[in-house]
Amino acid sequence: MSQATQTFVIVGASLAGAKAAETLRAEGFEGRVLLIGDEARRPYERPPLSKEYLRGEKDFGAAAVHPAGFYDEHDIELRTSSLVSAIDPARRSVTLSSGEEMGYDRLLLATGATPRRISVPGGNLPGVLYLRSVEDADVLRQAIGPSAQVVVIGAGWIGPEVAASARQLGASVAMVELAALPLERVLGPEVGAVYRDLHAAHGVDLHLGVGVEGIVGSESAEGVRLSDGTVLPASVVVVGVGVTPRVELAEAAGLSVDNGVLVDEQLGTSAPGIFAAGDVANVYHPRYRTRIRLEHWSAALNQGPAAARAMLGHDVVYDRIPYFFSDQYDLGMEYRGWAPTFDEVVFRGDPASGAFLCFWLHRGKVAAAMNANIWDAGDDIEALLQADRLVDAPRLADPDIDLAGLAGSPGT
Ligand SMILES: Cc1cc2nc3c(=O)[nH]c(=O)nc-3n(C[C@H](O)[C@H](O)[C@H](O)COP(=O)(O)OP(=O)(O)OC[C@H]3O[C@@H](n4cnc5c(N)ncnc54)[C@H](O)[C@@H]3O)c2cc1C
Repeated sequence: MSQATQTFVIVGASLAGAKAAETLRAEGFEGRVLLIGDEARRPYERPPLSKEYLRGEKDFGAAAVHPAGFYDEHDIELRTSSLVSAIDPARRSVTLSSGEEMGYDRLLLATGATPRRISVPGGNLPGVLYLRSVEDADVLRQAIGPSAQVVVIGAGWIGPEVAASARQLGASVAMVELAALPLERVLGPEVGAVYRDLHAAHGVDLHLGVGVEGIVGSESAEGVRLSDGTVLPASVVVVGVGVTPRVELAEAAGLSVDNGVLVDEQLGTSAPGIFAAGDVANVYHPRYRTRIRLEHWSAALNQGPAAARAMLGHDVVYDRIPYFFSDQYDLGMEYRGWAPTFDEVVFRGDPASGAFLCFWLHRGKVAAAMNANIWDAGDDIEALLQADRLVDAPRLADPDIDLAGLAGSPGT
């Protein structure tokens, strides 16, 4: 069948889905493109929601993936406020919660992820907030002002970013984390300590290595009770304890699911004609020879287009090195690579100076690297990661040695 008469359906109208739709048209697909999302707004990027948007420095338009007219101009049927309630891979159809059914020739699942809830006494009280959508950010923005007492539960990525923005808005902020250090799970203790010191220097009251027993309050949240008996007063509680991939549709349709929808390096699921991308996809990565589910802006940005090309039958291999960024106060950083385990951490530059590079080494090679407030090192770091060679740690640490020339003897 000619592709001009085909229908490609994308479920999830956010970054991965919108970029996929854009790519279908850019690649010359002339069939029907349906982009279906359960949110009321057109697709937008989420990183500003804990940063500039939350602080009122950027409006929705600056966060939107495309200008308002883009979808009509490119003949992309954007269906907002539309929940897909079922997929039938045998009949190649999707059903909306309204009962409407539509057939597809290719289907992309870009359903993203949803915040994990805390289940403690008082956890459902008004004033216990989560941050995923623009509406969540609007509610949070209303609750955070100079007189607010914000308690942030969880020091993964969302927690520290919200804590930083709340401090910048003049609120008093406490942050609670079960681990010994903020961001320790991904960055390890050495860089976790840098973020601990950063937040302490900005007046965040840190409670590390301690759990949450419950939220106290009668009508709404008034405080957070910790496992050490402390009760932190709160006018608002922000929970950032991770996300879970939205796999319900895939699971019900019988697709292979394990920490996300399982896809191969071409982003194809276990069902013919169905692809997945972004936060929901657990993607086989040929470089690491394992599946990785990334919850990063750049994965959605790049996997969406890659999936679109795969839907068109192109020969796609998704092998990009993972990348994410974070901005907290005046510390901006980019992280490249993947280092679930590492043997050594090497700094180039003094973290206390606020501008430094950091490398996570595994078996003598750079597994991941971060540039903090240094913005011209990205290409050299990418080259170092791509080279995948043994490196000499003292030379890596020496700012006088050119990074570009650092890849040493070929590794095994
Ligand atoms: C506050 C915040 C700050 C962040 N900051 C950073 C950052 O600084 N750096 C970084 O690298 N990453 C950051 N991220 C992560 C990044 O935003 C995500 O990785 C990215 O949004 C994933 O995009 P996605 O399109 O895969 O999924 P999502 O953005 O989750 O979108 C999925 C969409 O599908 C919709 N949907 C789900 N199920 C259905 C259904 N059945 N029917 C219809 N629609 C459905 C959802 O409502 C949603 O609109 C941040 C995330 C948040 C929430």
